[in-house]
Amino acid sequence: MPASLALFVGDLLACYGFPDGHPLGIDRQGAFWSQALALGLDQRVEVLAPRLATREELERFHTPEHVSWVKLRSEIGEGYLDEGDTPAFPGVFERGAAVAGTALEALERVMAGEVRRTFQPIGGLHHARRGRSAGFCVFNDLGVVIDTLRSRFGVRRVGYVDIDVHHGDGIYYAYEADPELIFVDVHEDGRFLYPGTGHARETGRDDAAGTKLNLPIPPRGGDREFFAAWEKGLAHLRRHQPEFLILQCGADGLAGDPLADLRYTTAVHARVARDVRAVADELCGGRLMAFGGGGYDLGNLAAAWTAVLRELA
Ligand SMILES: [Zn+2]
Repeated sequence: MPASLALFVGDLLACYGFPDGHPLGIDRQGAFWSQALALGLDQRVEVLAPRLATREELERFHTPEHVSWVKLRSEIGEGYLDEGDTPAFPGVFERGAAVAGTALEALERVMAGEVRRTFQPIGGLHHARRGRSAGFCVFNDLGVVIDTLRSRFGVRRVGYVDIDVHHGDGIYYAYEADPELIFVDVHEDGRFLYPGTGHARETGRDDAAGTKLNLPIPPRGGDREFFAAWEKGLAHLRRHQPEFLILQCGADGLAGDPLADLRYTTAVHARVARDVRAVADELCGGRLMAFGGGGYDLGNLAAAWTAVLRELA
């Protein structure tokens, strides 16, 4: 029997963050890991090390122009990768490449049958587009995994679940017309929060119409509103019979996050991890990759991600 869960933590991932008091700092992995150790959860998982992605691997999802742009800005070492959310600094290329490379390492372990599930707390950079960085996301590790599943492993029907408080626009728009990318995204209503997308009417385009489910929650919504939406999301996921599952479990929907205005408790993260794991076991031979996503209050992200770890281990 393969190990149940591989957890990816390490120095290469810990340093994914931005300087000068940016909300996404380099203290997030440490906050999670010290809580996981305190709870003894490290005893229940196999801890594996991160690695860098190659340029070829990044270009499975990203345009060569975007990869070159990040490389150049990383060498110059100042300014922004986008319009002002995602700063450039010396080495930012390697920081982004570590998140994507680790996701590929995790994918390879799952596809080799060495582990059933993986969790990468520093990952799930769902705002980066094929051709640009956005919203603190240098490269989109999730998109690199999805395109690698298709091109290298012949896995077409991928289920993507995203409970980060922000809409997963980098995934939604990359696969909007792709009928085999099954998409469920519960987020704060885009009329009130970055990136402003993810309306309920956005259900996929052309052949993919009906394969995507965007479930906006009004500002100040909590567990009650989330679970009402989640019933629909879970049914949608099961109905479309994915072969492989990806979970982006951002912690920024918890009460007190400095960048958003929802009021979830960690019951949301525990329940979603449990349900998604059950669907993976039923339909996907157990294959599930989870990513930490956003979360800008250190206590919140430690609580949410250890709740996920407990359910997946
Ligand atoms: Zn977020």
